[in-house]
Amino acid sequence: MHGTRNANERDSAEAVKIRVILMDNIELIMADTQTDAFLAKRRSMVESQLRARGIRDERVLSAMFLVPRHEFVSAEYRDQAHEDHPIPIGEGQTLSQPYIVAIMLEALALKPADTVLEVGTGSGYQTALLAELARQVYSVERHVSLARAAQATLARLGYTNVEVVLGDGSHGLPERAPFDAIIVSAAAPQIPPPLFKQLREGGSMVIPVGPAPAQELQLVRKQSGLPVVTDLEGCRFVPLIGSEGYSSGW
Ligand code: SAH
Repeated sequence: MHGTRNANERDSAEAVKIRVILMDNIELIMADTQTDAFLAKRRSMVESQLRARGIRDERVLSAMFLVPRHEFVSAEYRDQAHEDHPIPIGEGQTLSQPYIVAIMLEALALKPADTVLEVGTGSGYQTALLAELARQVYSVERHVSLARAAQATLARLGYTNVEVVLGDGSHGLPERAPFDAIIVSAAAPQIPPPLFKQLREGGSMVIPVGPAPAQELQLVRKQSGLPVVTDLEGCRFVPLIGSEGYSSGW
């Protein structure tokens, strides 16, 4: 009797162990399947929305394949995270469409040793891409909830070369200037002079300029201290709100 009970106990202990192993594996398999699904979505986003439309910079394409875009949106938008449109991120703001992000990053032509200023952290998605492409990223966001969420996501994903700063980024971040590149993710009424001032000689800034319905994405290069402006693409961004931006939303 005694022996039988021991054997039963052993059996049930084994059964529990096997069940735990099975459950662990099922969870791993499910996580893997999800990872694969998002990987497939990123691959198709890169091929059909970016490469097919003329994005050629392999560093940008690889970064956009690598960075898990779905991690930067709330659960309700996760399935649409890779679609060809902007995604709401709270506070009336949006995560830009993948193609626009790619156009901006390609125009900047970042080098691995660059220091970059980003104005408008938003979800932190583009911040992560910048962190992949440059040495150090300073990113300014005016909404505390967005700044906190972006910082948490970036830390969770292991980015250590990023500093998210809360405040009005329309006048830049003079204490960290000069920058090799500046990227502004909200539309300004004109190129903010303090931002241009904080650009290193030979550096580049990408910024949407213009009113609500009709903005132009501009590449601004600093050559012999003067701005050389190239129009890149028509676009629609949320407004840059601050001392060098608009005084309120639209
Ligand atoms: N690239 C972002 C897009 C964010 S939308 C992403 O990947 O998610 C633009 C962001 O700019 C918004 O979060 C908005 O709050 C922010 N913003 C607008 N004016 C700003 C200002 N003056 N300083 C800092 N952030 C600003």
